[in-house]
Amino acid sequence: MNFRYFMPVNTYFGQDCIQKNKDVLRSFGKKAMIVTGRSSARKNGALQDITQALDAIGTAWVLFDEIGENPDVETIIRAAKQAKQEDVCFLIGIGGGSPMDATKAISVLTANPDADAEILFTDAQAKALPVVEIPTTAGTGSEVTQYAILTQHEKRTKGGIAQPVFASVSFLDAKYMAALAPHITNNTAVDAMSHLVESYLTTHSNAISEKIVEMGLAYWKECIPALKAREYSAQIREKLMLASTIGGVAIAQTSTSLPHLLGYFLTYEKHIPHGRANGMVMQAYLELFGEEHEKVQRVLSILGLKSIAEMGHLMHTLLDCTETFTEEDISYYTKRAMENEAKLATFPLYPLTEEKIQEVYRKSLL
Ligand code: NAP
Ligand code: FE
Repeated sequence: MNFRYFMPVNTYFGQDCIQKNKDVLRSFGKKAMIVTGRSSARKNGALQDITQALDAIGTAWVLFDEIGENPDVETIIRAAKQAKQEDVCFLIGIGGGSPMDATKAISVLTANPDADAEILFTDAQAKALPVVEIPTTAGTGSEVTQYAILTQHEKRTKGGIAQPVFASVSFLDAKYMAALAPHITNNTAVDAMSHLVESYLTTHSNAISEKIVEMGLAYWKECIPALKAREYSAQIREKLMLASTIGGVAIAQTSTSLPHLLGYFLTYEKHIPHGRANGMVMQAYLELFGEEHEKVQRVLSILGLKSIAEMGHLMHTLLDCTETFTEEDISYYTKRAMENEAKLATFPLYPLTEEKIQEVYRKSLL
């Protein structure tokens, strides 16, 4: 057995955890940039909690609140320009994966003021300013992963930055999700489940990551009735956040696998939200392993599902899918997916051919 386990994020979980632990922010310097989406951080109270905490400890702050979904490199460049002008010492991301990932990329460009934005994809050693993350969706686990996924228009897809940027501190308070809309709650919950499942089944899984996944899946299972009913108590919100963060800890060790690769083209070309895109290909992905595969059996059994088809049914129940696709769409996505040899190689059973990938897309989309 050979593996590495690394999880350096100082993680605070629980109600009012920002207010209770604000002193931890003192060590990062005199001025922060807070990075958010356009409105949710204001409405759900997270922005107010962090600004009150910073004011209380005498740390100055500026706000960049223009991060859209699936942030692109152009937005990162604009934010970094402001961060450099303001001479900030650290960054605080609030939101779903989009603002949290953006914060990591902005921290790299701000720490390298003379460099071109290209370094995001070319210089894995480039340093970053300290990052604090506050998730307000329960899906991506970005608060505990080293990844930041950006839209690259010239490549017509999404890709991770080259630098591993772990948050120094994360604050996880499920109260920020109290008014999160059912469709975003379910889409993001499916992203968390997808992280757990992909981490379990990839070639990169190891003894520790597998046990972590089993724990995360058990929490996720307890949320299934609420996800189906689209009604979420405070306790369920906490469990969803726990499952999401555990999924993040798992993929921080193993990375993701095929559903993420296949889903990126659905998101870029059809604007399908990230978690839902993973869910749409989940059944066909599991069918590549087959019903009898030991680890697939274990996933299904922890989730209380009898078969892969039941997983597919669950995805249909939880996600609202209305898009239609053509054979041309599928040929294009397949061609693009085949370009990513490293991700394809995370499938453990046999080399994936173009026909196999096309079959997964066909089963999922037609
Ligand atoms: P998101 O794109 O961050 O946010 C989706 C929507 O939810 C936005 O409209 C946002 O509004 C709203 N929202 C967020 N929190 C809310 C709250 N508490 N109450 C009400 N509305 C809220 O969605 P996401 O699924 O969390 O993140 C997706 C991104 O994460 C993708 O780019 C994906 O590739 C990436 N990702 C990263 C990792 C990783 O390891 N780093 C893993 C998986 C996925 P505002 O815009 O107003 O905030
Ligand atoms: Fe994801």
